[in-house]
Amino acid sequence: MTASRPVIVCGNWKMNTTPADAAMLAIEVARATEVPGVVRVICPPFVSLHAVGNALRDTDVAVGVQDVHAEPFGAYTGEISAPMVAGLATWAIIGHSERRRDQGEDDELIGRKLLRCAEFGLRPILCVGEQLAERQAGNAERTVRRQLERTLAEIDRASAEPPANLVIAYEPVWAIGTGLTARGSDASSMAQLIRDTLAGHGITESAADVPVLYGGSVTSAAIDEFLAEPDIDGALVGGASLKVDEMAGIVARAGLTAAARQTA
Ligand code: PEP
Repeated sequence: MTASRPVIVCGNWKMNTTPADAAMLAIEVARATEVPGVVRVICPPFVSLHAVGNALRDTDVAVGVQDVHAEPFGAYTGEISAPMVAGLATWAIIGHSERRRDQGEDDELIGRKLLRCAEFGLRPILCVGEQLAERQAGNAERTVRRQLERTLAEIDRASAEPPANLVIAYEPVWAIGTGLTARGSDASSMAQLIRDTLAGHGITESAADVPVLYGGSVTSAAIDEFLAEPDIDGALVGGASLKVDEMAGIVARAGLTAAARQTA
């Protein structure tokens, strides 16, 4: 049953663009991707949130952040928290593999970030995914299940509820920015494992409604394989999200999925 899940395409601009050119890119992407039924999100760098938000004011493209701090306020030099982006963003990428790798973020910290998203009204896209060595050793499923369980355990510890509007991005680390992609069938079985794991953690009623996106070198040429899978609900797009034509192709393909699911 997929009809109740939205089809989502989220662009992660990473550490690219300046406020001056981000606004222009956002407008061009918004214009080129006006496709019914697809939820579009752009996550620019923090310093471009205001410019991008203004540029997208008359569109239904949502703005997200690429991370938030695990605490709401405090002595954390250079950091940005969930309440600080109120009015600038409504979505947040959490637990991206580049932050796990470069900032040493672990699942417990990511769980606390998820709590902050719920507390301050940001819709989280929680990223999970295995390293190449883990897949080669046959441990991809175990890794993703462990990431989710440890993240959700942090929410249990706080006696809180998982965010009702949770989105998961399955992003095999070896596919991010490499030009390699997973197989659609592998992404699909991982999406099923993700929903099973969520259901095992008390998200029983809504686990089937949690959108699962695929991320990892998605392009307009590669997206078809993933959106052909009923368990995959869209894409988290890095490098290709900076290219207007690529985003046009990706969202156009997502629109076909959205239309087909609506009539199913
Ligand atoms: C990402 O940033 O989450 C990502 C998947 O990047 P890319 O599409 O460039 O692999």
